[in-house]
Amino acid sequence: MRIVLLGAPGAGKGTQASVIASRNGVAHVASGDLFRKHLGEGTELGKLAKTFMDKGDLVPDDVTVKMVLERIGEPDALGGYVLDGFPRTVAQANALDVALRGANQALDGTPLVEVGTEELVRRLAGRWICRTCQTPYNETTARSKQAGSCDKDGGELYQRDDDKAEVVRSRLETYEKLTAPLVDYYEGQGKLVRVNGQQDVEKVTVDLLEAVSSLVMS
Ligand code: AMP
Ligand code: ZN
Repeated sequence: MRIVLLGAPGAGKGTQASVIASRNGVAHVASGDLFRKHLGEGTELGKLAKTFMDKGDLVPDDVTVKMVLERIGEPDALGGYVLDGFPRTVAQANALDVALRGANQALDGTPLVEVGTEELVRRLAGRWICRTCQTPYNETTARSKQAGSCDKDGGELYQRDDDKAEVVRSRLETYEKLTAPLVDYYEGQGKLVRVNGQQDVEKVTVDLLEAVSSLVMS
């Protein structure tokens, strides 16, 4: 199973991608998490990525594509993956298609989690993430049982620098300009399915799992 989960920042991609991946026994590959890992480890790539991430801009395609293609070549991704946050430009989508074709593979489909802009802003502003396992929580929609710590592993919850209001605005603009065109791109390939992201998290999961299984079977 090879899936690209599409949706704006704050649409709930991370949460949903993680569930879909574990239910289907495939890898969850999140480009933002990969960059944050590099950042935490202080690598050259991490330092480069930070200069873009801090402004809500995209990291250049060449380094991003290289990082993600390497990641999906790792053993745990050979049986499939859910891509989350990648591709984010038409150039990245093309590069992924070329790599897949070269390996005689194809994407099964690209579900799009749809959420209105106002709701996205609200969600991003209230988002808290576990330092240990990256699980996202939300002040209003998905609180942790104990304030400030993760339900799964007790890890410390923190707010991402790029979830601040000014950066959020710029990330949403970047999404509209550079990433939204992927909806047409994948619709043109007949791979797009739309899922309403403004429902209970569990209902979104059910709809997504259904969409994914119909894609994988077709
Ligand atoms: P995310 O966690 O997906 O919201 O990503 C956080 C930040 O990492 C983004 O705002 C970008 O600066 C960078 N980033 C993540 N994925 C990509 C990508 N596919 N292409 C370029 N930049 C990315
Ligand atoms: Zn955790």
